[in-house]
Amino acid sequence: MAYKHSYGAPRRRLKIVPLIIAILAVALVLAGVYFLVGTLGKEDAHAEYEEYNEKNKGYGTVEQFKEESKNFYISVFYPKTDNKNLNKIVTDTYESYINEEKKNKNTKEDVLYMDYSIDRVFKQYVTIKLDFKRIDFENKKTLVHKQELFTFDSKTNKKLTVSDCLRGKYMDLLTSLNASEVTATTNTLKVGTDALTIYTDDKLENNISIKYTDNKDYIKLANKNIPSNAPTNIAAPKQQKEIDPNKKMIAITMDDGPHKTLTQRAMTAFEKYDGRATFFELGNNVVLYPDVVKDVYERGFELASHTKSHSQLTKLSADKLDSEIGDTQNAVFKITGIEPVLVRPPYGAQNDTVKAAFKSYGLTSVLWDIDTLDWKTRNAQKVCDSIVNEAADGKIVLIHDIHETSIAGLELALPILHEKGYQFVTVSTLYQYKGTN
Ligand code: ZN
Repeated sequence: MAYKHSYGAPRRRLKIVPLIIAILAVALVLAGVYFLVGTLGKEDAHAEYEEYNEKNKGYGTVEQFKEESKNFYISVFYPKTDNKNLNKIVTDTYESYINEEKKNKNTKEDVLYMDYSIDRVFKQYVTIKLDFKRIDFENKKTLVHKQELFTFDSKTNKKLTVSDCLRGKYMDLLTSLNASEVTATTNTLKVGTDALTIYTDDKLENNISIKYTDNKDYIKLANKNIPSNAPTNIAAPKQQKEIDPNKKMIAITMDDGPHKTLTQRAMTAFEKYDGRATFFELGNNVVLYPDVVKDVYERGFELASHTKSHSQLTKLSADKLDSEIGDTQNAVFKITGIEPVLVRPPYGAQNDTVKAAFKSYGLTSVLWDIDTLDWKTRNAQKVCDSIVNEAADGKIVLIHDIHETSIAGLELALPILHEKGYQFVTVSTLYQYKGTN
């Protein structure tokens, strides 16, 4: 009995187990079919967001970022290139689009979809247009549409602005093309093979086109395939170490150069402390010493304008005033590929006419706080004393790099100021940290 009994129990269990297995199996198959059909149905519904336009994708590979959640179906196509900096700009842009849209909650499903076009010319300029949409999935209605177009320069590794592409009195050119809404920092632009295209509205519907061949004197882009006066053999300027905004800084400026030897001697003095300075140069001397000017640029010092021939600008005719400023801009540009953004009028003489002329070249006028009168005393110790005694945080000092005594005085002053905790900066750097006042 015990045997039977003990035998009987497992037998009864044996009957139940297959039944459970069978039920489970059927349930599993049904669930699988249901799941498969469901998924396929959903995939089908999203199919149109799983596609991208194959045209205009001539550079890099097509990548997709995908995410499905309760309220969002995200399908973002973006380009991946061999340039890390560009890739970062692209991913940062679409991630910020997504994050911004996720903040706007919805009850039903919305689709976040992005397609793009990419174009590279002369192996240097990459133009990307990103087209991002938020779509109400059920009603197929576009709720948000954002477009972004920009051009990336793979040589300088930055997004180009109008002031990176155009030079001289380009604001006058833009006005003549009825594009006065375009500013120096506008970056909705495309560098094409024959022309620069600047978009004049957010929807990218209107644009102006500037043909390189017709506007050579306005073109700043440095590429051998683009007609311009830019040199193509210039090294990137040596960057100053990071500035400590909490430490004192002073901008020592030198007028009337460049000088064939003293300008470089001055730079060497600053470099002992990883310092920089601004040189307000005369156009006539720039033409005389192009190698010094190139050196100033490549060593990371600031090239500024002191106009062409040291005339008193307030007494000049409009034409003469224009050439005093314009010729100096042209001379510096031909050597370095950059133009001064700061100008110091000789004798500090300026009026509204002069200021308007500066502005038409994008120039800001800079005077000084501390006048060492170095041209008068011609005594190194006196120059040094003047700098050291009057030095204060945020001040602009004036000396001249055409007198040996001035540079000798500078060499005496720098170690003392360094000891007092000063950082030696260009005027532009000083403005960046302390404002223009
Ligand atoms: Zn001067």
